[in-house]
Amino acid sequence: MPRALLDPRPPIPSAYRTDDRVAMQHMARNFAMNKVLPAANELDPQHGLIPQAIRQEMGRLGFFGIMVPEKYDGLGLGVFEYALVTEELSRAWMSVASIIARSGLAATLDPSQRAVYLPRAARGEWLGAFAMSEPGAGSDIASIRTRADKTDGGWLLNGQKMWCTFADQADCIVVVARNRPYDPDNRHVGIRQFALHKQPGSFPPGVSGNPIRKIGYHGWNTYELSFDDCFVPDDCLMGHEADSSADDEGFKRTAAGMTTPRIHTAARSIGLARAALEDSIVYVSQREQFGRPIADFQVTRFKVATMASEIAACRALMYQVAADIDAGEPSEAQAAMVKYLAAEMSERVTSEALQLHGGAGYTTDLPIERYWRDARLTKIFEGTSEIMLRLVSDRLLPPSPLR
Ligand SMILES: Cc1cc2nc3c(=O)[nH]c(=O)nc-3n(C[C@H](O)[C@H](O)[C@H](O)COP(=O)(O)OP(=O)(O)OC[C@H]3O[C@@H](n4cnc5c(N)ncnc54)[C@H](O)[C@@H]3O)c2cc1C
Repeated sequence: MPRALLDPRPPIPSAYRTDDRVAMQHMARNFAMNKVLPAANELDPQHGLIPQAIRQEMGRLGFFGIMVPEKYDGLGLGVFEYALVTEELSRAWMSVASIIARSGLAATLDPSQRAVYLPRAARGEWLGAFAMSEPGAGSDIASIRTRADKTDGGWLLNGQKMWCTFADQADCIVVVARNRPYDPDNRHVGIRQFALHKQPGSFPPGVSGNPIRKIGYHGWNTYELSFDDCFVPDDCLMGHEADSSADDEGFKRTAAGMTTPRIHTAARSIGLARAALEDSIVYVSQREQFGRPIADFQVTRFKVATMASEIAACRALMYQVAADIDAGEPSEAQAAMVKYLAAEMSERVTSEALQLHGGAGYTTDLPIERYWRDARLTKIFEGTSEIMLRLVSDRLLPPSPLR
């Protein structure tokens, strides 16, 4: 096969390139290709869990502490580096790229707890799960119904949660619940977050759960959970809103926390699409039909060129928005744009890659089908594509008051 003149993994653009970033990208790439990809190819088809050895090595490499301040044993870097590493890990297995986000929940704890848990999180020894979605509340966070009722020394949680990924193995579940009755005229009021500390591998008293049968995102389990008088102590109410009578602070806190996860999801989408592109370039160069490599057919060549162009465009926007977030620029709508574009692109590109692989792409012997299944999810979680468009359009065309 002739050597490609254009690398599907282009260098970091000169405007953002530093020696440290290049070194970090290469470290993540080597780890992803040598350790994560073989594990994913073996374990994903049998719905196995991410091996502990991989998690431990990620801890040693600093991946859980990229954005954790140095005073808490992290690397003290920004969203840019987080996105760089995420793309590399997702190129091998999206679930592994996803688990690095689970240390970040420690940064949202209250200061006294943060000092205890954040250093452990930075080493990957403390990881969280996030229980926001409910059977009746997905895109519409303000409609959550899980209740937090005051009791001696703490709160009692009651209700149902859906889609809580990693609930079983996490050291803590951050539960979004209301400490005031649901009021249809003030839906954003009374939403709070509670840190429910627990032992990994079990659920605490008052919590039970069942894994949801998913079509992808294997490597860890996603649960539906029931809370039945589950006790959390007073100091586990996050954000000091305990005595606030009627405010939407907790809702704002939940919504504001979505900007970086959306860049993370864009990076995951781009990593998956790049995996599909890299594998397609190899496959179409080797697979022969009609006496020649299928790479010789112009339709194949143009598909590959289109895939590479779309990935490059999304990556460029992701770098720009990540750099803006690190510079303190308001970036909520921009993060929604790049999350939307990258997720849609990823589904298209991974589907085209499967097409280029023909029947071989429709087997579980090759990882193309995994990229495709996982890319499909990026359009749904961390806010659906439609919700991203709603966020952007509401900025461009502020909705008129109801008449
Ligand atoms: C594998 C997986 C893992 C997940 N992990 C977690 C987790 O760890 N923690 C957690 O809390 N959640 C998690 N989620 C939940 C995820 O965030 C939600 O699935 C997502 O927010 C969408 O909510 P929903 O599924 O209820 O869909 P719905 O909100 O019911 O949406 C259904 C459809 O209606 C559209 N729609 C809804 N409202 C509007 C509107 N106003 N305008 C236009 N279209 C609209 C949506 O775009 C979508 O197409 C996970 C989901 C999955 C599938």
